[in-house]
Amino acid sequence: MKKLIAGNWKMNGDLASNEALVKAMLADIGTPSCNVALCSPALYLGQLQSLLKGSPIAWGSQDVSAQEKGAFTGEISATMLRDFECRYAIVGHSERRQYHGETDEAVATKAQRALNAGITPIVCVGETLAQREANETEAVVKRQLAAVIHAVGHCISEIVVAYEPVWAIGTGKTATPEQAQQVHAVLRAQIAAASEHPERVQILYGGSMNAANAASLLSQPDIDGGLIGGASLKAADFLQIVRAAG
Ligand code: PEP
Repeated sequence: MKKLIAGNWKMNGDLASNEALVKAMLADIGTPSCNVALCSPALYLGQLQSLLKGSPIAWGSQDVSAQEKGAFTGEISATMLRDFECRYAIVGHSERRQYHGETDEAVATKAQRALNAGITPIVCVGETLAQREANETEAVVKRQLAAVIHAVGHCISEIVVAYEPVWAIGTGKTATPEQAQQVHAVLRAQIAAASEHPERVQILYGGSMNAANAASLLSQPDIDGGLIGGASLKAADFLQIVRAAG
């Protein structure tokens, strides 16, 4: 299975800087041997569509509504994302769980909405520092993934999972390759028990992955790629991670 390197720009960028960043990536990316994607704020998905169409880089959103359509002011539906040819939608990022109160069930519904629209959800799971210190890591990530398995049933083979320890996101503290691998193996086993095609499911690591530490994380047997925040805002750093995945 090819690895996947997905950038999460979060709430960064503007028309001019996005264009410069994407053009710098396209100028240097060549023919990557892994899958590559960029997830921008929803407002810029049209811009990514015109800059990236026909290129080796796919694009996606950072969220999707749990609702199908209707009176949900400010929400963006999965079918709207499909209009802009999004290949991926991040769901359940820890910043959405933390700042927007997204529950495991809401995240699972979002994953289902994306799948219904033909979009691959990148489902984020991960423990806080307090949960890790209380030895709850496995229980937390299994509970988060179980909600999605319950909602999407056999379609679980069509999702991407991202293990993102909350304490490692944007902090410069990366999980060691061994710490990450341990959790990835747990998630792999959970998917294997629920899926008819577990070999299709990519499990990404996210949390301060950068040009310097990517190769050792990506060499772990159950780490199938990366979800990259800060380092996806710099073309050279992002491309070094892409190359480390090749
Ligand atoms: C993320 O937001 O998904 C992430 C992994 O961020 P960072 O790489 O900046 O830690």
